[in-house]
Amino acid sequence: MLRPGGAWITSTGMTIRPILIHPDPRLKKTVDPVAEITDEIRQLADDMLATMYDAPGIGLAGPQVAAMTRIITMDCAPKDGEPDPMVLINPEIVWSSEEMNTYEEGCLSIPEMYADVERPAEVEVRWTTLEGGDASARWGGLHATCVQHEIDHLNGKLFIDYLKPLKRQMITRKMVKLKRERARAEG
Ligand SMILES: [Zn+2]
Repeated sequence: MLRPGGAWITSTGMTIRPILIHPDPRLKKTVDPVAEITDEIRQLADDMLATMYDAPGIGLAGPQVAAMTRIITMDCAPKDGEPDPMVLINPEIVWSSEEMNTYEEGCLSIPEMYADVERPAEVEVRWTTLEGGDASARWGGLHATCVQHEIDHLNGKLFIDYLKPLKRQMITRKMVKLKRERARAEG
């Protein structure tokens, strides 16, 4: 997800990875769980946080940087508050409220496109931490929207999949054009 005009954080030992832009077959895949937390996974988590802050965004999922595994990063802290970087490995929604909430969503893989998406207002999420521990949280508000959006990415689902076909096709056409323009600019 996107945070327009958000804060930048720079760190050493982190690499900003290129973000895949829709349409891309890798963004349509259901990816496998992380089997073991290795140095490679720790590096991926660091890189994803750096990439997310650089974008700037409030959430990023592995497949968006071509890492085809179940890992997401998030920072849903208020813009003027302290940063709250989170890494969720193998996240799972174990409970959703019946109450729904509509939020105008954007996506780092679908630049500059926004649309209202309705999702459960509250969710309970379980995940594995980078240290290998179990964690869980019950979230509402932006956290709930963001974690659902990011977990969708792990299942090959984009926020535009919730929109009416015409709107989705219009956005996809714009992204095809954007990718063509970027490819041309890169020579
Ligand atoms: Zn997204």
